[in-house]
Amino acid sequence: MVGYVLADLFSGIYHWAIDNYGCAKTPIFGTQIRLFQLHHETPWAIARQQMAKSLHVTARVLTFMVLPIVLLCSDPVLLGFVGVFVGFILFSLQIHAWAHCTKDKLPPLVVALQHCRIIVTSSKHAAHHRPPYNSNYCIVSGTWDLFLDKSKFFVALEKVFFFMLGVRPRSWTEPKSEFQK
Ligand SMILES: [Zn+2]
Ligand SMILES: [Zn+2]
Repeated sequence: MVGYVLADLFSGIYHWAIDNYGCAKTPIFGTQIRLFQLHHETPWAIARQQMAKSLHVTARVLTFMVLPIVLLCSDPVLLGFVGVFVGFILFSLQIHAWAHCTKDKLPPLVVALQHCRIIVTSSKHAAHHRPPYNSNYCIVSGTWDLFLDKSKFFVALEKVFFFMLGVRPRSWTEPKSEFQK
């Protein structure tokens, strides 16, 4: 349960970070930053992508991160947490893709999970693709959005980064941003 809850929080923080900072040339994260930029240009395209295509790159990275823990640790509670947390982080990409599909294109189980709010719904995620483009970043269940958006957590963090490092987040340049339409 903790793994599931924290995976939603992590998905929101990670999504916010790559939506707002870095570029296609950023080491390690550049490809993903570019893919998310493309997603904001054409949000509907992700619905047509095959699951294996959207998951395989992240799956490879997560495998190498999880492998040492599995080999060095034998605590069932910790292994259970890591399995659930990493599993939801990996599938957050697919959960996000499902949030861009119409209900008639989704398997009944996915529709049921969305209906129960166990995974993020289309209507909830749609708010992320509407002005001012700086909310609803969480893409597992979306539960943390309630706290993160209401408390203006990311807005505060963006101001801290700006005053400390002089870096502006992309969301500040709306609606002229080159990728968010
Ligand atoms: Zn985004
Ligand atoms: Zn989206």
